[in-house]
Amino acid sequence: MSWSKQSVGLLMLAMVAGCDKPPAAEHPMLEIHGRTMGTFYGVKVVGDFPGGQQALQTQVDSLLKHYNDEISTYDPNSSLSKFNQQQTTAPFPVSQDMADIVISAVRVGQRTQGVLDVTVGPLVNLWGFGPDRRPVKIPTDAQITAARQRVGIQRLHVDVSADHAELRKDIPNMYVDLSTVGEGFGADKIADFLESRGVHNYLVEIAGASRSRGVNAKGEPWKLAIQKPTDELDEVQAIVKPDGRAISTSGSYRNYYELNGQRYSHIIDPATGKPITHRLVSATVITPTALEADGLDTALMVMGPEKAMAFAKQQHLAVYLVIKTDKGFKAEYSETFKPYLVQ
Ligand code: FAD
Repeated sequence: MSWSKQSVGLLMLAMVAGCDKPPAAEHPMLEIHGRTMGTFYGVKVVGDFPGGQQALQTQVDSLLKHYNDEISTYDPNSSLSKFNQQQTTAPFPVSQDMADIVISAVRVGQRTQGVLDVTVGPLVNLWGFGPDRRPVKIPTDAQITAARQRVGIQRLHVDVSADHAELRKDIPNMYVDLSTVGEGFGADKIADFLESRGVHNYLVEIAGASRSRGVNAKGEPWKLAIQKPTDELDEVQAIVKPDGRAISTSGSYRNYYELNGQRYSHIIDPATGKPITHRLVSATVITPTALEADGLDTALMVMGPEKAMAFAKQQHLAVYLVIKTDKGFKAEYSETFKPYLVQ
């Protein structure tokens, strides 16, 4: 089953049925799907939900619409767009949710030494991967230099007090793009919502970011498939048991375009201001929260295969990489990832 926005090249995580054990007793399961954040989502709940399937759909749709209205750069009326449009350095009041997502995104940025940078939006847009139109010509060095002058997470600030939160920017024309963490943030929020309703067996997927807990309808731990980096959606690269943790995959091979025989990916290296050019085609990360996994998978994509694996080892991160070779693809994973792999 495919929930991913195919025009955007993330490697989705597809659910796979447990096939290595005899089937256990089936438990009742509610399943809903929908659209959000320019892509698709799915939620599975094993057991009851107050009000049943319709209530689940209505409440999840409403929550996701609310978060979309907060953080979308594709909606000029979202809170984040209003902050981006404000061409001054004056403090901008935001919700606690907005403050939380920005604080978490900046933390991942600092942890990766600025490789993940949610102020990279002017470069994302310049290269045609944001709400702006795709370029018909490769951006010039002068355009890249000008866009880079608007980038830098150290110039973005969040001030939070007991009853108030504000965003501030040191440069008036800074532009924040939360696309890289939005789906993970959404998956965490829906998981928290389910927990608050007494649901403890669930799977939430928003495109390539997922949170799960407990067991599936067969009473077995949830299993997810990392897709192979091919055009076929159902080809499985590896099967993973996240064991109550979040998992997210980022890929460079679907969201790209070709111009003058050269391929340009949506992952931008803030150090060069240009799309990545190395051979890492997908990165999967398992962490406690989906937001963290969603940010780190993109950061690893920026780093490239060697630096990504060195970072995973140094940080004891559960990471699975797929790397292009002359003959096809090869997989590499960190020791910390090993216990999650299903043989
Ligand atoms: P990820 O790997 O998770 O993130 C890659 C994205 O992050 C890039 O596309 C770029 O935007 C950004 N990025 C690139 N390099 C860096 C870097 N070094 N540091 C930080 N960020 C970087 N798309 C639509 O077409 N229409 C919509 O209406 C729409 N609405 C959206 C609303 C919301 C709230 C969000 C969060 C996203 C929306 N999107 C929309 C975007 C889209 O669905 C994906 O989120 C986006 O394409 C990236 O997700 P991904 O999982 O493919 O890639």
